[in-house]
Amino acid sequence: MDAEDHWMLWQALPVPLNEDVMSNPMAKKAILTQQAPCRRCLHDITVGDEVILLAYNPFLGSSPYTQTSPVFVHRQECVQYDQDKLDKPGMPQQQRGRLLSVRGFNKEHFMIKAELAEGPRALDLCKEMLMEGGDVEYIHLHYARYGCFAVKVGRRTHSNVMK
Ligand SMILES: [Zn+2]
Repeated sequence: MDAEDHWMLWQALPVPLNEDVMSNPMAKKAILTQQAPCRRCLHDITVGDEVILLAYNPFLGSSPYTQTSPVFVHRQECVQYDQDKLDKPGMPQQQRGRLLSVRGFNKEHFMIKAELAEGPRALDLCKEMLMEGGDVEYIHLHYARYGCFAVKVGRRTHSNVMK
């Protein structure tokens, strides 16, 4: 990601994981048997680590496109991804090598664009969708093969920079 791309905002878990979600009977504690991406810190989880697998709905509004998808998080509380605390903010390494479904939503939470891409092409698609005419308000990236929510991508605004 180039310096001029800092207008993009990568948000892990846009809907915070609360006690209700974490204590839901469908949330499964497990020992990881193959590498998987943690959606809170956006680092990969090592085989043998304890994880929680849960159904997660990343939508901040209601829409016919609202859906839950399976996500892994480290069982031990990890630090939520915050690009402002990184030397090299931008698309996390975790997503750079995986096939992604890039889904663009408008203000009414309707999906108006959708593409599959991997690596630099996925980053370019995010830029294109967010820059084109302003109809795409935000993007949800999903890991395309399993369909799991990965991260939300939006534009920085004054309100989400000033924390
Ligand atoms: Zn984590």
